[in-house]
Amino acid sequence: MKKSRRQFLTRITAGAMALLTGAGQAKGEFIKRQSAETGNFKTSKEISWNRSIPMRYDADVAIIGGGIAGVSAACAAAKSGARVILIERFGVVGGNSTTGGVASFCGETAGQGEVFDIIISDLEKFKAVAPYVPYPEADHRNFDHEILAVVFQELLLRRNVKLLLHTRFVDVVEQDGKISECIICGKSGPEALRAKQFIDCTGEAEVAHVARFRTMKGGDQNGLQLPMSVMCFVRHVEENELIEQVPEGVFKRYEKRKDLPMTSIWPNGPHGNALKIKVAKFDATDTESLTAAEIYGRRQMMSVIDYYQRVEKRPWRFDHCSPQIGIREGRRILGDYVLKVEDLRKTRKFDDAVARGTYVLDAHKPDDDKRTYILSKAERTVPPYQIPLRSLIAKDGKNLMMAGRCLSADQLALSSARVTTSCSMMGQAAGIAAAMSVENKCDPRDLDFSEIRKIVEKRGANLDV
Ligand SMILES: Cc1cc2nc3c(=O)[nH]c(=O)nc-3n(C[C@H](O)[C@H](O)[C@H](O)COP(=O)(O)OP(=O)(O)OC[C@H]3O[C@@H](n4cnc5c(N)ncnc54)[C@H](O)[C@@H]3O)c2cc1C
Repeated sequence: MKKSRRQFLTRITAGAMALLTGAGQAKGEFIKRQSAETGNFKTSKEISWNRSIPMRYDADVAIIGGGIAGVSAACAAAKSGARVILIERFGVVGGNSTTGGVASFCGETAGQGEVFDIIISDLEKFKAVAPYVPYPEADHRNFDHEILAVVFQELLLRRNVKLLLHTRFVDVVEQDGKISECIICGKSGPEALRAKQFIDCTGEAEVAHVARFRTMKGGDQNGLQLPMSVMCFVRHVEENELIEQVPEGVFKRYEKRKDLPMTSIWPNGPHGNALKIKVAKFDATDTESLTAAEIYGRRQMMSVIDYYQRVEKRPWRFDHCSPQIGIREGRRILGDYVLKVEDLRKTRKFDDAVARGTYVLDAHKPDDDKRTYILSKAERTVPPYQIPLRSLIAKDGKNLMMAGRCLSADQLALSSARVTTSCSMMGQAAGIAAAMSVENKCDPRDLDFSEIRKIVEKRGANLDV
């Protein structure tokens, strides 16, 4: 018994150390291996399969991914009169902003459109959001992410959005750029969903990817994606209840704060803290690399908790970790227009502007886990900027739009546009455009863009730059 526990610990530590050091990995390459303890299961064979499945749903607009972008898109399309289905793989909507444990809206929170206004006013009713202070006087506004999940679901239901939880988007039936059905799989098994317009809000551009539409990822310098972060939470205990929860010899031990990975700590309710721990060099669009990131991230989390409990004697008890690592960048879909960082810096005005960003270029350096950024502090600030509708229309598709962090943008533009406030604005605009395409029986790119802009502004979106 004793021996097998020791072997187990040795195996874990070997795996963790390989990942920590990135052994065998060339500079600028993603870390792909899971850990030393997993053997080689790879084969290079292919199979094909064919089966009949029920055509279970028929909607006007299908939105894949229920993060803040997907929720905003669904609510906006439904308000325009479309019959809307929202597909979410988890048992709760909200994505990064709920299951990811992100609990603050960055950037300007006024003038983001009626969907965002309702989200805020509903959070206010629960006393679950910080008071409004204009941006940039305050650069973020904290909220309770567990309450936000409830606010989102109730808002979707009030708008008559058909919500399917625990349902994963799997594949598309597509011809010449037009998606006729998508294949989803929930607890009932594989089923087909037919819709006239689709909006990819998966963050990793999963719809575009399986449809073989062109996507982009990573930056110009080394191809690495913006780093991920583990979000975890601790509860405060009394000084006389100080504990060290992490057993010795299992995870890497830190003795000095300067050696820790970048760890941001902020209050989480009156008796707790949230911790955000940087995890760099993994690929959120690769199954094995993402698995490795989750494993490595939880190991790092244990090491960080151990450091604060053992070395700094913080009165903390580990509470929980978000069920999914926080992903800043997955795939971005190639759109009719690629929003570039220069557009932000030069405040480029677009005739088809439908959303606005205000936040800084928050581009954490992707190739180390310290508090480092791609740009200097002075280079990170940008004036308010516009996001055009063409950056929300998939170039290779006839009925696929996108919103949120899989918009068509370069990496630095994404580093700002990815925050919740602009994701919600993009979602609202894509929802309005998709519903209008259904009504006019046309491709979103054939719509009268000025008409969409008018509706977006009428629904409270401030596009001023
Ligand atoms: C660590 C971290 C800290 C951050 N801090 C802040 C902050 O303080 N303030 C701020 O404003 N922003 C912050 N952000 C950015 C912001 O949280 C996200 O970029 C934003 O929430 C993205 O919204 P989204 O809807 O585009 O994507 P996501 O929130 O990622 O939502 C995508 C949704 O799609 C679902 N999905 C994916 N694939 C499938 C599939 N195949 N089938 C069905 N469903 C699927 C997912 O489950 C998820 O619900 C942070 C991000 C990270 C990672």
